Amino acid sequence: MKKTRLSAKRKSELCLQCGKCCMAMSFYGGEVDDEVRDEIYWMELHGFTIDYVKKRGRLEYFFTIPQRCNALQEISAPNGQTHYVCGVYETRPQMCRDYDGTMDGPFGVADCLWRDELNQPANGKLVQIESKNHLT
Ligand code: SF4
Ligand code: SF4
Repeated sequence: MKKTRLSAKRKSELCLQCGKCCMAMSFYGGEVDDEVRDEIYWMELHGFTIDYVKKRGRLEYFFTIPQRCNALQEISAPNGQTHYVCGVYETRPQMCRDYDGTMDGPFGVADCLWRDELNQPANGKLVQIESKNHLT
């Protein structure tokens, strides 16, 4: 099934400038097997968040790096609220251009309106497992 995408105009209309999508980055890790369990343990010790997803009977994982982007800038709105904008917007990396609200964790930033518009479930098939010991 072809993935629906939002137009740049619609993205702009929906973005609340909360900055959450620039405060961490998630990547698909792959299937959990004996070999990767030790790597996952290392990631947990280094502050990465691990999310587990069950897909067609396979246990897969995503890892999230809790690193705020150095280019993220804060601006104060007249109402006193803080908004977040990209300081390198014109030259931002392609992965930032491709972001559609679904990439922070397996299912994206929970309250991002981009994902809401694309009807992405917040916690669809997410299985959170607390410790690597539970995976054995
Ligand atoms: S998480 Fe969504 S609403 Fe927040 S800054 Fe990113 S795109 Fe905008
Ligand atoms: S480069 Fe810009 S859009 Fe990309 S993560 Fe940093 S602040 Fe966000």
